[in-house]
Amino acid sequence: MKTIALIAHDKKKDEMLEFVKQHEALLRKCKLLATHTTGTLINKTFDLHVNCMMSGPLGGDQQIGAMVATEQIDCVIFLRDPLTSQPHEPDINALLRLCDVHNIPLATNRKSGCILLDYVARELEDTK
Ligand code: PGA
Repeated sequence: MKTIALIAHDKKKDEMLEFVKQHEALLRKCKLLATHTTGTLINKTFDLHVNCMMSGPLGGDQQIGAMVATEQIDCVIFLRDPLTSQPHEPDINALLRLCDVHNIPLATNRKSGCILLDYVARELEDTK
């Protein structure tokens, strides 16, 4: 089973819900985790069991980063808001860096997220 981390900045949360709706069938076959507000919103909207970490600004990105570093996560979909400055920018950069250090696929916008989930779907098919 693949483990996917989902994170969306505030202005990207609606887009994350649309993204999850579009890929619900595949996401149902994966283990999901998310930062707190993103995960809570997904859990309220869909019947998915997203494991919620702390909220991003309170350390959630760092928690997910630690799981990337210990290779407990197969890919990260992080819908970032590139037009708003974030108080936890250092934590965000640290997470992106750890994905590169550990060669963990990372998508930072919706279209690359779609491509990433196509890859996940193919991997799931191959391991059948
Ligand atoms: P949130 O965190 O899901 O708790 O809003 C996301 C973030 O800002 O990194």
